[in-house]
Amino acid sequence: MSDIFQKCRDFKTVELMRSKGVYPYFAPLESEQAPEVMYLGRMMVMAGSNNYLGLANDPRMKQAVKTAVDEFGTGCAGSRFLNGNTHFHEDLEIKIAKFKQKEAGLIYATGYQMNTGTVGALVGKGDFAIVDKLDHASILDGVNLSGAEMKRFKHNDAADLDRVLSAIPDSAGKLVIVDGVFSMEGDICDLPALLEVTKKHKARIMIDDAHATGVLGKNGRGTTEHFGIDPDEVDIVVGTCSKSLATVGGFCVGKSDIMDYIRHNARSMMFSAALPAPCVASISTALDIIEQEPQRRKNLWDMTRRLKTGFDDLGFDTGHSETPIIPIMVRDNTKVFMLWKALLEEGIFTNPVVSPAVPPSDTLVRVSLMATHTKEHIDRILTAFDKCAAVIGIARPAKVK
Ligand code: PMP
Repeated sequence: MSDIFQKCRDFKTVELMRSKGVYPYFAPLESEQAPEVMYLGRMMVMAGSNNYLGLANDPRMKQAVKTAVDEFGTGCAGSRFLNGNTHFHEDLEIKIAKFKQKEAGLIYATGYQMNTGTVGALVGKGDFAIVDKLDHASILDGVNLSGAEMKRFKHNDAADLDRVLSAIPDSAGKLVIVDGVFSMEGDICDLPALLEVTKKHKARIMIDDAHATGVLGKNGRGTTEHFGIDPDEVDIVVGTCSKSLATVGGFCVGKSDIMDYIRHNARSMMFSAALPAPCVASISTALDIIEQEPQRRKNLWDMTRRLKTGFDDLGFDTGHSETPIIPIMVRDNTKVFMLWKALLEEGIFTNPVVSPAVPPSDTLVRVSLMATHTKEHIDRILTAFDKCAAVIGIARPAKVK
């Protein structure tokens, strides 16, 4: 008889990493998410956070949470479907739809739930979900749960999407799902080309703007604004509130009738508790700050350009990054962990990224920036990378000898 616990006892990878002092996961930070954090008893430059606009420790966000707790308490005690809904949630849905220039919105408890719920409501057995090979795991999990058939196309390759869609029967339901900004690689989806192909095949398209919201476009509205594309061209836009919006939660925006259908059919919405009011309040406050303080986004991009140029000058391979997410391509598992560890010792917190988060041949150390980083922070990151990469022997294909 096989014991399902045997695999747990045979699971030695983590033990080995801990014994070698290179275990990077579940790092217990000792302070709030800020440009510098306390970790392992010392202050470090935080270069591995998704707090893109630096709002996670903003006093106005904290105050909004305190006020909401006084009015609505700590939790909603159930699903929005039955007993956990408030006018606060509904006002936020209107506000986020307006920000994204769509008719209606939906708020979920997390971005992960938003993807599984939305995809599961829209496609099922007999339908096809066509995904970019580097789409986020929550999209893939949503497709797997839905019963729809998953087809994958080459990363950001509209010609390959065309090939995949051409092989699907005309009569089948088709939903193309792409990340707006790819979370590990930091590149932007080729939306104009993908839209053209999607329309040609009469498929629907959904964009996950988790890393684009607050970051891309003149007003931070995301991928469509970045490309100057009419928001109506994209059927469904989704995202998370755990990055620029600096708390937790997920959103989905689109036409009113479609949102109403999803609201009544997304299992992760119906069978899971509502987002607590303090989180709703902080999302709403973050949206106000995004509209009032464009200089935050400007600083984020100024810092991004300074870091990217610095990495280029040092010869590092940063893949196709074009956003505040800048991967240093290492392509060697052991060296990824060595580099991450050496950077920590230099006082720089980054994220080591290996399979399954990225393909095994494309392992990397992920750097991501905040609007509240300064030039001094960027220069410290560059100095540390230069020093650590030299010691470990990280390839620098573009290094000028
Ligand atoms: N989509 C993308 C592209 C993401 O990067 C993430 C989280 N990293 C999610 C969805 C899930 O969001 P959340 O953390 O709010 O569950």
